[in-house]
Amino acid sequence: MPDFPEILDDTIHLFEEMKRAGTTHVNVAAETYESLSHPPAANDPLCALREQALTCTQCRDLAKARTHVVFGVGDPHADLMFIGEAPGRDEDLKGEPFVGRAGQLLTKIIQAMGLTRHEVYIANVLKCRPPDNRTPEPDETENCLPYLLRQIELIQPKVLVALGATAMKALLDVQLGITKIRGNWYTFHGTPMMPTFHPAYLLRNPKAKREVWEDMQAVVKKLGREIPPASRRASTG
Ligand code: SF4
Repeated sequence: MPDFPEILDDTIHLFEEMKRAGTTHVNVAAETYESLSHPPAANDPLCALREQALTCTQCRDLAKARTHVVFGVGDPHADLMFIGEAPGRDEDLKGEPFVGRAGQLLTKIIQAMGLTRHEVYIANVLKCRPPDNRTPEPDETENCLPYLLRQIELIQPKVLVALGATAMKALLDVQLGITKIRGNWYTFHGTPMMPTFHPAYLLRNPKAKREVWEDMQAVVKKLGREIPPASRRASTG
């Protein structure tokens, strides 16, 4: 992960290039401006990491095109952490992961598990939106993965859920596809990890919701919790 002087150099270089290309001003999101105005909270490493990500320009094209860096959201001490692929259009505009249609479906899944978005932590492998929601390039994943690894290290969830193939491949050394490995427990640095389908896949293939629900029931059990009666009735009704 780059240190502050490297980030500063990259940022200055980016601005110089933009100036040479004729740019006369830049729009800075209020959140970014705020983060630049205050030094990172020295006693909150997750907050400091977020501040660092908000000004990251390692993937120049993504940094130029983004509206927001989408760092992650939820309880910094969550027992359960969901990891997706990358922000889409809605997430880029809002600066929060999983807020579009796929995100609304993930919220429903979380609620059916007897939890809320505030009780879990949600992040992506990539913090900036790839153009046209394309799959992240290997170098982009390599650049951004240290942020996710540090998030996991700081949050210390009891269970991880990898949503889709990109998250699974970024964290697990497996050659099989998500269809083959979903529903099976893996371990990531000692933490149980359940790979399952990405909610965007469920929007295209609603029949796969049944498999994801099976996976999430196993996750709830692993957390030592119970599926709410209303969710049990709905899944058997
Ligand atoms: S995707 Fe990650 S590594 Fe690349 S510019 Fe954004 S925050 Fe930095």
